[in-house]
Amino acid sequence: MKPHLHGKRGADLLHDPLLNKGTAFTEAERDALGLRGLLPPHIASQDEQVARVLETVRRKPTDLERYIYLISLQERNENLFYRLVTDNVTEMMPLIYTPTVGLACQRYAFIFRRPRGLFISIRDRGRVKQILQNWPHADVRMIVVTDGERILGLGDLGANGMGIPVGKLSLYTACAGVAPEQTLPVMLDVGTDNAAFLKDPNYIGTSLPRERGPAYDALVAEFVEGVQEIFPRACIQFEDFGNANAFRLLQEYRTRVCSFNDDIQGTAGVTLAGIYSALRLSRGQLARQRFLFLGAGEAGIGIGELVVEALRSEGIAEDVARRQCWYVDSKGLVVSRRTDLAPHKRRFAHDHPGAASLLAAVEDLQPTMLIGVSGMPATFTEPVVRAMARLNPHPVIFALSNPTSKAECTAEQAYTWSDGRAIFASGSPFPDVTFQGRTFKPGQGNNSYIFPGVGLGVIVSQANRVTDEMFFVAAKVLASLVTEQDLATGRIFPDLQRIREVSAAIATAVAKVAFQRGLTDMLCPEDLPARVRAQMYEPTYPNYI
Ligand code: NAD
Repeated sequence: MKPHLHGKRGADLLHDPLLNKGTAFTEAERDALGLRGLLPPHIASQDEQVARVLETVRRKPTDLERYIYLISLQERNENLFYRLVTDNVTEMMPLIYTPTVGLACQRYAFIFRRPRGLFISIRDRGRVKQILQNWPHADVRMIVVTDGERILGLGDLGANGMGIPVGKLSLYTACAGVAPEQTLPVMLDVGTDNAAFLKDPNYIGTSLPRERGPAYDALVAEFVEGVQEIFPRACIQFEDFGNANAFRLLQEYRTRVCSFNDDIQGTAGVTLAGIYSALRLSRGQLARQRFLFLGAGEAGIGIGELVVEALRSEGIAEDVARRQCWYVDSKGLVVSRRTDLAPHKRRFAHDHPGAASLLAAVEDLQPTMLIGVSGMPATFTEPVVRAMARLNPHPVIFALSNPTSKAECTAEQAYTWSDGRAIFASGSPFPDVTFQGRTFKPGQGNNSYIFPGVGLGVIVSQANRVTDEMFFVAAKVLASLVTEQDLATGRIFPDLQRIREVSAAIATAVAKVAFQRGLTDMLCPEDLPARVRAQMYEPTYPNYI
């Protein structure tokens, strides 16, 4: 089928990033579409263009410069941008997402060239629907929305956090083939408590302290209602909200609206997959594991809840399953005698004495798996890792805090301090580590293994809710795609280059859940895997004539 040009020709065509092919417009297209003379004479293939832009990216002096170049390529030519990212996903993902996106958000005012997505400020109450109607694309299927309060592990970056929804949605397209025009990044700018930004005349957001009262809830509610009316088939992904709002909003909307929180549920999915792979390496059983989390926020509690689901699926009673999960937060071990615990932590507060430190908790509880989701770097110290290695033949050490500078320990430290026995994964990528002649490929517990596939499955099945079961099946599918060769190098996730195959398999499994549980009005097509594949956008140039 020929793509619709909406009557565009000449310079208008070159300036539409969804249609532009740059130097790849053919002779015939140049004649028919009024492009002759507007482009240099050499006609390039898309492969030649990819090689050229890849070289340009590599020649840039810093990752931030690479990010800026890639975003401007996306603004010019989306097909070429996505071809580049899809074909080189391992190299490009850290540039368009964590860790580089964190730096980009910190400097957003100086990087900002063209707006992308919708900015809805606290001053826009009463006109959110109008703003949604300003979006130029009607068939929005996936929205990523943030209020910028907890950007990666970097804290409150206010409206500068827009880099996150933009980046996440690029990953939906690159990793799962969600069509770019079906994605919508949204920033709910409710002010910021970032003191430096409030004083900075270049700050791009509303220079007011962050709204935390009823006006905040009213803005979110107006946004969600507006989306249901204007984009009724859209799924809303809540992203990088501070944890007081994240848990509340998830509770509020998950049973009423097609929505989920990737920091809580997506993280849980990818980490559970990592846990299943680690068990293949250690030949252990889930029922026999004891988990100690450093950090009891969105990521930590989300993982714990999904681990409980997984244990229950193996016939273990919920209270027994919960006692396999222990938490240390900024105030120490999470135990029932503490009076300062938020509701999401209370479900994991056990009747037990406190612990003076993480090391003391490790010695006391003897966990088999240590999972860092605290945003606090260098907290998995040498004594902590050595204690894990003394207690376990294959200590599982996941240092998931992002960006790289926040990781609880490095890959090299985990392998060195455990004498090469650790099963390690991190949130941001680490380079390979050679220890005593053996080369380890540290796995990246990257949410991108999970959320794009889940989103695609929701889109394909037109599911009206996103459930925990969907993340559970996504984790199982992801773990099943880890090969023996991956495991042999210590890698507990599939090669990122296989991400589209992974996303397609996850989408199929997620869609099946939607059909089985009656979460859609659609009937399950007979050829579901083929239907999923057919839905996936391919970043190749169409012929226009
Ligand atoms: P959050 O703010 O909800 O939770 C942070 C938790 O860490 C809180 O419970 C806090 O009490 C605890 N904490 C803070 N300082 C501590 C200390 N010194 N010792 C022990 N605990 C401490 O944040 P979150 O959403 O849970 O994210 C936490 C980290 O996990 C971030 O760095 C984030 O980037 C990372 N993360 C990684 C992935 C991934 O790798 N796939 C996914 C999501 C989040």
